[in-house]
Amino acid sequence: MQSEAHEGPFKTCTMCNKVWATPQEFLTDKDLQLNGYMWSKKSIKAGLYQGGLLVFTHMLQNCGTSLAVKPSGLKGTAARDTK
Ligand SMILES: [Zn+2]
Repeated sequence: MQSEAHEGPFKTCTMCNKVWATPQEFLTDKDLQLNGYMWSKKSIKAGLYQGGLLVFTHMLQNCGTSLAVKPSGLKGTAARDTK
């Protein structure tokens, strides 16, 4: 395959250590439920994010934690993945 310079998986669950290698994998995981959109005024003030965070809940019996994802991160990687 191609030699991709991966810096690591896209996201790892802090509770059950489930790993999502790519944003696509993350977005298509049926165990994840989009919970809402969280604005972080603090982050915006600090210039870290232009928008808020997408909050997902990991709907597993032994998990149930919330994961926050930057929409910009999803967008950028998805656009790069066009074949
Ligand atoms: Zn989990």
